[in-house]
Amino acid sequence: MSKRPKFVAGNWKMYTSRGVAKELAAAVAQGAPAGVQVAVFPPSVWLTTVADALAGSAVGLGAQNCHFEKEGAFTGELSPQMLLEAGCRYTLVGHSERRHGLGEIHDFLNKKAKAALAAGLHVIFCVGELLAEREANQTEAVLEKQLTDGLAGIPAEHLPNLVIAYEPVWAIGTGKVATPEQAQAAHAFIRRKFAALFGEKSASVLLILYGGSVKPENAADLLHQPDVDGALVGGASMKADSFLGIVRAAV
Ligand code: PEP
Repeated sequence: MSKRPKFVAGNWKMYTSRGVAKELAAAVAQGAPAGVQVAVFPPSVWLTTVADALAGSAVGLGAQNCHFEKEGAFTGELSPQMLLEAGCRYTLVGHSERRHGLGEIHDFLNKKAKAALAAGLHVIFCVGELLAEREANQTEAVLEKQLTDGLAGIPAEHLPNLVIAYEPVWAIGTGKVATPEQAQAAHAFIRRKFAALFGEKSASVLLILYGGSVKPENAADLLHQPDVDGALVGGASMKADSFLGIVRAAV
């Protein structure tokens, strides 16, 4: 078993009202056990509400997206500096719902990751293959391209604040979960590729989260794989009981 800490993150996507976000955050803050890093990623409009609900707890706050510029004429966008001021420690970059649903591509994601890290945010950079790519045996080629292009030029001093989430697109929100063996194989590949890009030392401490239909019932098997350092949870993070069940499975 690795000495890397476990990290469980909840992506609330475009769900929750303000009241629900507040209650959910308070319940997570109260119920999260020690010994696991936990963070929640509410819709941006609720960030400050959730920051207040998490105040004094060890649960971190993250944004689901950020722009790469500090400020400017970018209607609808939020800068890393704004997210920090709203209380965020983390941001997601490259979630598949933005890659495939909104057409965000490698170079754009690379700029976001670099800008967020340079501003002092921790970045969870998401990668993962489509079902057709897995069936055509292209999983490793897809991951390699996403990592090589998406992480290009990140300076060594920012690597400690970078986390990778392996999220096979066919498993996100579908109820189809990767087997622990499939997850382990992809995570081990990502760690090897990261070592080739940034060196063995950085790769050995890199946290790699699995995402894709994680639930309390399947979490322990996934989280006990040697290269699975935690989970990025969508659907099951929107109920305190199921999210905390996953967090407990990581202890
Ligand atoms: C996600 O949104 O990153 C995700 C993994 O969703 P789900 O857990 O619902 O598959």
